[in-house]
Amino acid sequence: MPPVCRAEFALPPAPGGSAAAGPVVTGHRPLICRGCSGHLYAVRTTDHAGGNAAGQWEVDHEVPAPMCPLEDLLPLTGTAVSVHDLPGALEVLGPAC
Ligand SMILES: [Zn+2]
Repeated sequence: MPPVCRAEFALPPAPGGSAAAGPVVTGHRPLICRGCSGHLYAVRTTDHAGGNAAGQWEVDHEVPAPMCPLEDLLPLTGTAVSVHDLPGALEVLGPAC
């Protein structure tokens, strides 16, 4: 069975949560750090007020990587539609699967 790219997925709504209130948090499959090949997590908090498609992102090592040469670039935060559109994403994120 060939590997399947599952780079992005949407977390199901929180039980009891209201889709109409508050920001939506979208999960992300682990990304690979270019510096240490470690897994990165990416969390997007999106405020849909005004129909804004962009979200606030936070990207960091899943496990602290003190030896990573890109440590100074992480956590990577910013506003973008896709995590790959974040400033600095090209330097930090490994090649897309
Ligand atoms: Zn790293």
